[in-house]
Amino acid sequence: MARDLLGSKCKRCRRAQEKLFLKGDRCNSAKCAITRRPYAPGVHGKSISRGLSEFGKQLAMKQRIKRMYGVLEKQFRKHYEEIENKQGVTGDLLMTRLELRLDNVVRKMGFAQSPIQARQLVTHGAFLVNGKKLTIPSCGMKVGDVVAIKESKKDNAYFKLQTQTLTAKKDFPRWIQFDQSKMEGKIVALPSREDVGIHVDPQMVVESYSR
Ligand code: SF4
Repeated sequence: MARDLLGSKCKRCRRAQEKLFLKGDRCNSAKCAITRRPYAPGVHGKSISRGLSEFGKQLAMKQRIKRMYGVLEKQFRKHYEEIENKQGVTGDLLMTRLELRLDNVVRKMGFAQSPIQARQLVTHGAFLVNGKKLTIPSCGMKVGDVVAIKESKKDNAYFKLQTQTLTAKKDFPRWIQFDQSKMEGKIVALPSREDVGIHVDPQMVVESYSR
């Protein structure tokens, strides 16, 4: 795995000075590093001033969004190129494209706790999309698509536990309809930037690519 996706996840949040929710339940607990040490990592972390140039701010925002989804530059740029000529606000279209990545959809449905875990479950063939196995984490989902756990994986200890958790879960995103009797989720609307749940300004990414 690429170096940028290895190493401490909490350091990435502290560098971004924002919770990026990369560690599942721990992110909502008092153990969250951003709660305990809300400053940049390193010996000079407390004294680092955020006086960045406009370009520096754009790069920092791009880095934050890439880390939220566990995506590297090449893939991120590919997502940008997919949407840059479409009608609409480019920044919002970019966030919708990222939210609709299969690994992110799997996480938002509650099948996985973190972006890395979601990616791993997808590549290991744990899910069916509209009844067919799909193992590409970056694959874009669309309204009407149904994601379910593959039948043969349901006896797996991890999914048995997840089934119990998901049976009690109530707070699914508004763009996902989850059927708890079948343990499958359907995309019923396009996610918007507001659905991301973390402060992002994707227009800064657009500006950095338009230079
Ligand atoms: Fe670590 Fe999660 Fe807190 Fe980020 S949000 S600092 S990954 S515990």
